[in-house]
Amino acid sequence: MSYKKISINTAQPAKAKSRVMIIYTGGTFGMTYDSEGVLIPFDFSLILEQLPALRNLFLDITVISFDQPVDSSNIQPVHWQMIAEIIFENYKDQDGFVVLHGTDTMAFTASAISFMLPGLAKPVIFTGAQLPISEPRSDARENLITALEISSAKADGKPVVPEVCIYFDYELLRGSRSKKVESMHFDAFKSENYPSLAKAGVKIDYNYAAIRNPSDQKIGYFKNFDSNISILKLYPGINKQMVDAILQTEGLKALVLETFGSGNAPSLPWFIESLKMAIAKGVLILNISQCPGGMVLQGRYETSKSLGEIGVISGGDMTMEAAVTKLMILLGEFGIEKTRELINKPMVGEIS
Ligand code: ASP
Repeated sequence: MSYKKISINTAQPAKAKSRVMIIYTGGTFGMTYDSEGVLIPFDFSLILEQLPALRNLFLDITVISFDQPVDSSNIQPVHWQMIAEIIFENYKDQDGFVVLHGTDTMAFTASAISFMLPGLAKPVIFTGAQLPISEPRSDARENLITALEISSAKADGKPVVPEVCIYFDYELLRGSRSKKVESMHFDAFKSENYPSLAKAGVKIDYNYAAIRNPSDQKIGYFKNFDSNISILKLYPGINKQMVDAILQTEGLKALVLETFGSGNAPSLPWFIESLKMAIAKGVLILNISQCPGGMVLQGRYETSKSLGEIGVISGGDMTMEAAVTKLMILLGEFGIEKTRELINKPMVGEIS
């Protein structure tokens, strides 16, 4: 897959304060109307015309644009590899990164990139928009300007937010804790189980206690994925045929079991037996709650006790998005045995 590179020095003639790379992948953010009123991707070299206020940030900006911008519902692991590779290769030369991405799967991509770049110690700020930048009431302008400001913010010469985040609607959230929760209003993302890392008002108020301290580790790059995983969302009335259709899928290595409340599931004997058989065949089953807030506590109720007893692994307070991407990356990099060991241990602050 190829991409275009555009350099925009918004600081001329003065010296730029920081160097930031924008990676434009697609989504609603960059849409504009052509002469026939059809929405088409925006030409990023014209960003200063749409956003003259960018000049006041005094940044040296390099834009890498996907040749073919994608609606984020079409995002695949190959796109995650592209984004991670661009960050990894340009890491030394840049102070921070802003990734412009559709909102639909932004929480998956932000989670994936967090796990793919262990040891990352510079800001990678994902943002997008609910309304295209060409619309008068668009949220794209504020989201981009503040994401750029956060990605270039330093204190004592060090980045203020050295981690992968989502900035949206005046709030900065840890990427691997975020979820898309709203498709019509501007407050598209929430992180129920971890506080916001910053709120943008008259000034940007950073929540220093919640921001991750970077490790001294050198940045790495996990590029292998194994997508032989699935999700089974429980509902009252689910039947054996449906459950077995998933559990007995050829090649299945891991399953995210989306349970009720604090990790509860039906105690029906056929259901427990089906899970038990899959586990005996080597399938890793990870218990993640359907509730966006709170955590899985296997054994708190009778309806979750047997899950722990048969070897279902508790996913704690991880989001489904973090669980799915972490499984694919751990399986791809380390195989099933190591994945079993690592899946519910924190890698980037995604689990308490
Ligand atoms: N379908 C779009 C996407 O995720 C929606 C958006 O950008 O907000 O690419």
